[in-house]
Amino acid sequence: MSTSNVTFYERVEDALGNDTLQTALDRTTTALRNNRNNAIGSLPEAEALRDHARKIRAHTIANLDKYLIQFVENVEKMGGTVFFAADAEEANDYILKLAAEKEVKTVVKSKSMVSEELEIREEMEERGIHVVETDLGEYIIQVADEKPSHLIAPAIHQTRESVAELFQKELGATDEEIDSVANMTDFARRQMRRDFMSADMGITGCNFAVAETGGITLVMNEGNGRLSTTTPPIHVVTMGMERIVPTVEDLGVMLQILARSATGQKISVYSNLVTGPRRPHEPDGADEYHVVIIDNGRSNLLGGELAEILYCIRCGACLNACPVYQSVGGHAYGSVYPGPVGAVVTPGLYGVDPWSELPNASSLCGACEEVCPVRINIPRMLLKLREEVNEKGHNPAWLTGGLKMYAFAAQRPGLFKFGGRMSGIATNIIGKDGWIKRLPGPLSAWTDHRDFPTFAKKSFSQRWKEERGS
Ligand code: SF4
Repeated sequence: MSTSNVTFYERVEDALGNDTLQTALDRTTTALRNNRNNAIGSLPEAEALRDHARKIRAHTIANLDKYLIQFVENVEKMGGTVFFAADAEEANDYILKLAAEKEVKTVVKSKSMVSEELEIREEMEERGIHVVETDLGEYIIQVADEKPSHLIAPAIHQTRESVAELFQKELGATDEEIDSVANMTDFARRQMRRDFMSADMGITGCNFAVAETGGITLVMNEGNGRLSTTTPPIHVVTMGMERIVPTVEDLGVMLQILARSATGQKISVYSNLVTGPRRPHEPDGADEYHVVIIDNGRSNLLGGELAEILYCIRCGACLNACPVYQSVGGHAYGSVYPGPVGAVVTPGLYGVDPWSELPNASSLCGACEEVCPVRINIPRMLLKLREEVNEKGHNPAWLTGGLKMYAFAAQRPGLFKFGGRMSGIATNIIGKDGWIKRLPGPLSAWTDHRDFPTFAKKSFSQRWKEERGS
C-alpha cells in the first residue's frame, strides 16, 4: 500500500470543503449509527454476546497457528487449494499466474477489503483482464475511478444525485434509468448480469473462515456473492490470516453481532457458506477453489501491543461513531482502512513512518471502543502509536516543545496554577462571549474550522475554595 504525495492535512482540508461529501457523510453515518444503536438495544443479551464474541476473537488470535493448520487441512480435504502469501506481491503473483494459465478474460469480483489491500483489480486490468466489481457500492467506485471510503459502504462519499450524474455521464443511463434509487440499482444489475454469465473467474473476500469445516462465509445484502462463487468455473478467495473462527457455533455468534453492528440488521440478507469446489452431484459451483491466505504484516502484530486490532470483524461501527471520520470521510486517511480501526491497522501493518499522521486523527473520545462489537480498545493503541510517532521524531517541533513545557509546568503546582490563571485572563481578553474565532500560529489549524472555547475565568480549585472555604 502506498501513500500519496498529498498530506493527510491537505486531504482533510479538501474533505471539509466538499459539500457533496459532507451531505453524504451526514446522511449515511447518522442512519448507520441509529440503525446499529436500535439493533443492539433491542437485543436483551447484547452485552453478554459482545463479551462472548471478544473471548472467541482473543482465543482465536492467541491460537492462530493451530486454527490456520486445521482450516487448511479441511479445505484440502474438500478438494480446494490453499496458498499462503507473505505479502500483496506474492498473493497477486499467484492469482495472476492462475488467471494466465486458465486463459481468464473476465473476472467478477465481490467486495473485499483484502482485495483492495492487494489492488488485484488494478493488477488484472493492467494485463488486459476485464474485471467487474459486483457489489453495488464497489461498482459505483469502479465507474467513478475512485477508492472505497468505508469498510461496509464503499461509496458512502457519494449521494444518490452524484451517482445518477455518474451513471448518465459514464454509462449513458437514460433519465428514466436514474430517476430513483431502485431504477439505478436495476440499471447496474443489468450491466453486471452479462458479466456474471461470461466470467471465467470469481474473486471474493471472506468474512469468516471456519477452522473445523474448512468453509468460508460471505456476509452481504446483495446476491452478487452467490453469483460470483457459483457461475464462474474458478473461485478465488482472498482472506487475511486473522479471519478464522474455530467452530460453526462461534460463527453463529459472530454473525449475530456483525450484522447488528454494521447495518443494524438482525442478520444480513445473505450469509453464504462456501465449502470447496462443486461436488460431482451438485448442479452449480466452481470446479476449482483456491484460498489465498494473506499475511501482509499481520504476523508482526501477533503477540505485540497492537495484536488486539486483529480481533476486528470489519463491521465499520467505529467509523460511524467517530467524530473525525464523520467530518472527513474515508479518503482523507489515504489508506484502504479508514477511521479509528484504520488509524491503528495501517501504521500497524505498514509501520508508522509513512503513516505518522493517522494515530493523531482521533479525539480519543472513546466512542469507537464503546460501539465495537468485540470491545477493541482502540484509544489505548492510538496512544501507543502516538508514543512511537513522537519517539521517532515525526511530531512538529512546536508540538514537542509545547508538550515539554506543559509537562514541566504540570509537575510544579505553583507554576501550573499561575499558568492556568494567565491563560484564563489572556483567552478571555482575545475571546468574545466565551469563544475565540482565531488562534495564532499553528494553533490556527483548530480555529480554521471551529471556534475555540476560552478558559474558565476561575479555576476549579479557586471555585472549590470559594464554595467550600478550604
Ligand atoms: S474495530 Fe470494532 S467497530 Fe471498528 S470495524 Fe473493527 S470490529 Fe467494527
